[in-house]
Amino acid sequence: MVDTRDLLARLLDEKKLSYCQDCGSCTGSCPMAKALPGRYNPRRLLQRVSNDLPELLRSEELWLCAWCYRCTERCPQGIQPTEIFLLTRNLASSEGMIPRNPKTIMRQIMKSGRSVNVPEDFDEWREGYGLPPIGATISPKAIEEQRKIFGEELLRRLEA
Ligand code: SF4
Ligand code: SF4
Repeated sequence: MVDTRDLLARLLDEKKLSYCQDCGSCTGSCPMAKALPGRYNPRRLLQRVSNDLPELLRSEELWLCAWCYRCTERCPQGIQPTEIFLLTRNLASSEGMIPRNPKTIMRQIMKSGRSVNVPEDFDEWREGYGLPPIGATISPKAIEEQRKIFGEELLRRLEA
C-alpha cells in the first residue's frame, strides 16, 4: 500500500508547484475563503503544505476545506489543491493531530450518526409542522456499520 507521505510528495513535486502562478484563482473560487475571510485561504494553505508542513499538521485551517473541488477545477496549472489538502489532513489524522472541533463533530457522528446534536424535543417540534419523527439517533445497525467504516484505529484516536 502506498504511504500517505509518498502520495503527498507525488502531488507536491517541485516542478508541478513551480507552475503555480500565484493567480489566486483557487482562493477567488473558494466558498470557505469567502465565508471565512482572513482565516482560510487555499493559495496560502498550499504554500504552507510545501513550506511549513509540521506546523500546519497542528493547525485547524487544514480542516476547513469543504471538498467542493472548485479550486481544482479552476486551477489553470492543473495543480490539485483539494487532493493535496485531503492527503495532508489524512496525514495529520494518522499522526493523532485532529483538532478539537472536527474531533467533536466526528464523535457526534459516531454516537448518533448525525453531525449535529438533535435536541430531545426535536420530534415534538417536527410534529407541529406535520413532519415525521426522526429519533435521537440513526438505527443501531447503521451506527454499527458506521463504526466499521470509521475503523478501530480512528475510533481509538477519537476517544483519546
Ligand atoms: S489556482 Fe492554481 S496556479 Fe492559481 S494560485 Fe491557485 S494553485 Fe496556483
Ligand atoms: S475544495 Fe476546499 S479549498 Fe478548494 S475551493 Fe472548495 S472549499 Fe476551497
